[in-house]
Amino acid sequence: MKTIGLIGGMSWESTAHYYRVINQDVAARLGGLHSAPLIVHSVDFAPIAAMQSAGDWDGAGRQLAKIAKGLEAAGAEVIGLATNTMHVVAGHITDAVAVPFIHIADPTSEALLADGFETVGLLGTRFTMEMDFYRDRLAASGLTSLIPEVDRTNLNGIIYEELCRGIVRDESRRIYVDAIERLAARGAEAVILGCTEITMLIDDAVSPLPVYDTTDLHARALVSAALG
Ligand code: GLU
Repeated sequence: MKTIGLIGGMSWESTAHYYRVINQDVAARLGGLHSAPLIVHSVDFAPIAAMQSAGDWDGAGRQLAKIAKGLEAAGAEVIGLATNTMHVVAGHITDAVAVPFIHIADPTSEALLADGFETVGLLGTRFTMEMDFYRDRLAASGLTSLIPEVDRTNLNGIIYEELCRGIVRDESRRIYVDAIERLAARGAEAVILGCTEITMLIDDAVSPLPVYDTTDLHARALVSAALG
């Protein structure tokens, strides 16, 4: 089994989910006392979030690339970045390391296409929903993505003000469910939880559309890559 390098801390709440899912998946596949050889570099999220707000993507990209190089030097043989939003600088990371980088959108689109979906709703930070990097990657795989027409500021705020701080509120869950209902009315067949914290709020039990949770799918894809 290869050693996984995980760039985490964005936020640490979702990195904790990755840690659990990766180890559970290794145990499920290999049995016994098997667990994942895993190196986590967890950042202080505040300065990264400040760079996001300032639009300093290059600065953030350089920092994450340096971390990826450090993970590679420490023995990581496959690397994952545990946030959808920061995949805006995925190119900085792939330019910096020789080991495989597992892009979070790829296992997500593979799962959707395998289940026969073509038009999907995308929920995430305003960066993930409104910038091109994520939707273009989905489109390249053959998926049409729809983002909410209203309430994007609210949906984004719930991520940074609540979920990244471990706060889970029924009222916010309602706002997300309403957004999924509106996406369904516009033709979405399934919904991508395109932010690694939304899994704290939404699951198949409450969602009006089938849920594709990027945290879970990405964590399992890292295990697949590690097991070759
Ligand atoms: N974890 C989130 C994501 O998947 C949001 C935090 C961030 O901006 O990195 O996009």
